[in-house]
Amino acid sequence: LPGVDRDALRGALSGIVGEGRVSTREADLRTYARDMWPRLLLAVREGAVAEHPPDAVVWPETAEEVAAIVRLARSRHVPVVPYGAGSGVCGGAMPLHGGITVDLKRMDRILDIDDRDLVVEAECGINGERLERALAAKGLTLGHFPSSIYCSTLGGWLAARSGGQMSTRYGKIEDMVLGVTAVTGRGDILTTGRHGRVQAGPDWTQLLVGSEGTLAVLTSGRLRVRRAPAARHFRGFSFARIPAGLEAIRRVLQRGLRPAVIRLYDEFDSWMALRPHDKAKEAHASGALPGLAPPASKKGLLRGLIGGALDRPRALNALVELGAQKLLRPGCLLIVGVEGAEPRARVEADVVFGELERAGGKDLGEGPGKDWFARRYSVSYNMSKVFESGAFVDTMEVASTWERLMDLYEGVRAALQRHAFVMAHFSHAYSEGCSIYFTFAGHAPTRHTAEAKYDALWRDGMLAATRAGGTISHHHGVGLLKGPYMAEEHRESMALLHALKQTLDPDGIMNPGKLGMSTWTAT
Ligand SMILES: Cc1cc2nc3c(=O)[nH]c(=O)nc-3n(C[C@H](O)[C@H](O)[C@H](O)COP(=O)(O)OP(=O)(O)OC[C@H]3O[C@@H](n4cnc5c(N)ncnc54)[C@H](O)[C@@H]3O)c2cc1C
Repeated sequence: LPGVDRDALRGALSGIVGEGRVSTREADLRTYARDMWPRLLLAVREGAVAEHPPDAVVWPETAEEVAAIVRLARSRHVPVVPYGAGSGVCGGAMPLHGGITVDLKRMDRILDIDDRDLVVEAECGINGERLERALAAKGLTLGHFPSSIYCSTLGGWLAARSGGQMSTRYGKIEDMVLGVTAVTGRGDILTTGRHGRVQAGPDWTQLLVGSEGTLAVLTSGRLRVRRAPAARHFRGFSFARIPAGLEAIRRVLQRGLRPAVIRLYDEFDSWMALRPHDKAKEAHASGALPGLAPPASKKGLLRGLIGGALDRPRALNALVELGAQKLLRPGCLLIVGVEGAEPRARVEADVVFGELERAGGKDLGEGPGKDWFARRYSVSYNMSKVFESGAFVDTMEVASTWERLMDLYEGVRAALQRHAFVMAHFSHAYSEGCSIYFTFAGHAPTRHTAEAKYDALWRDGMLAATRAGGTISHHHGVGLLKGPYMAEEHRESMALLHALKQTLDPDGIMNPGKLGMSTWTAT
């Protein structure tokens, strides 16, 4: 940030937390310059590792320290960027205008596990897997299992409206949270939802959930937990076409049944998911798509071939579609898992499986479901290898009601296919609708051309989503990436968000430029 005296800032922050918990070292500033937004990896590939570093990083240990940091930032008119684990994929934790990155990781205590009310209270910097393990030791579960559970925090989940793989049974994070403690952009400490879910008047908790650090730093949360499931029953089914599979899911959900997981893959994604375990393992070890990061000896040749194919996305998509639908014919794979206490879980599983079969599903046995469960966290950690190979990959998760779902799928897919190779699956199903998770891979030789292609792809995809009546995000949040589409999503309510920002953060210091709100004005 021009004009920020980093030494003076470090000195002032040290006055709050002590010298050991503040840094202005170059290595730290570079580390905190980005999150997992794929667009930033295009710059990293060309050596630009930290174009937007913070001016200081601080590791508070109490809400009072966070409040003092925010008040300091206010008095110096310096941005504050809350930071969980940096696993966000939309640039949300990137300090666009510099300032103070407040890393919550030292605030990772579990404050209470109430076995009678089934409520956990924990500080927001706690790592997701650690929280789940602590609950498991007491026979409980939060039921929140994002693929990033090993590298994300409670605060990041709440701030970005995270969704776990078992959301159909347990809900998204906003369905679990009962209350939060937060430090607003005024530097005040605010506690919401003191009486659990039961309260009179507006729900202030839900105003802060999803605010992505633009209104407040969340310091702790109280969340509903469940008894850990005693049994899990999996099954795979094959449907001839996507609409038949979606109709089957709708019927299951609208009968009041709640499988923990129910996912439907389009043809190519089904072929990927159904391949024998070893091959899938190899592919997953080398990159999210087969062959994108081949063995060294064949690297040059294959890179050229794959790059060439990805440079003609329309032809590639058409070819793969033809192959998947006419030659390989894997059908559309549906994976379903039911869990809970016995005998209820067994009975519910039988009813769910019966309903899916009656809706036209061909029973594939429990193999595909068990296989998915065993590998449920392994697919997403290979992005950098794909980028090294000259390609880029990313995902777009949108959602809508059942009525609009196929239009949303067709519209977004057609928009993305102009720029990249695309596959998709439907997951996170609810009685009123479902989300769609698109995975795409593109190619462009230089940073400049890759960024232009990436931006055009996201613009076309987001506009197609809003045109089809879909939401611009189901669980990855908004960050910097989807900010331009927030006004289209919220229409007249966007004014309320600005008014709330003005009230809770009158100086506009909280994570400026994110969530489609005002950019920074240095004074
Ligand atoms: C491999 C991989 C798989 C993923 N899978 C999933 C998935 O299955 N489901 C899913 O929902 N997401 C997934 N994500 C996205 C990401 O993990 C989520 O967005 C997660 O909620 C971010 O948590 P974090 O702690 O890393 O937050 P960060 O990335 O550090 O921050 C995210 C945003 O929240 C703000 N923030 C963070 N902590 C706080 C706080 N305490 N108070 C206020 N604001 C805060 C930040 O300023 C930023 O705007 C995945 C990401 C990766 C890389």
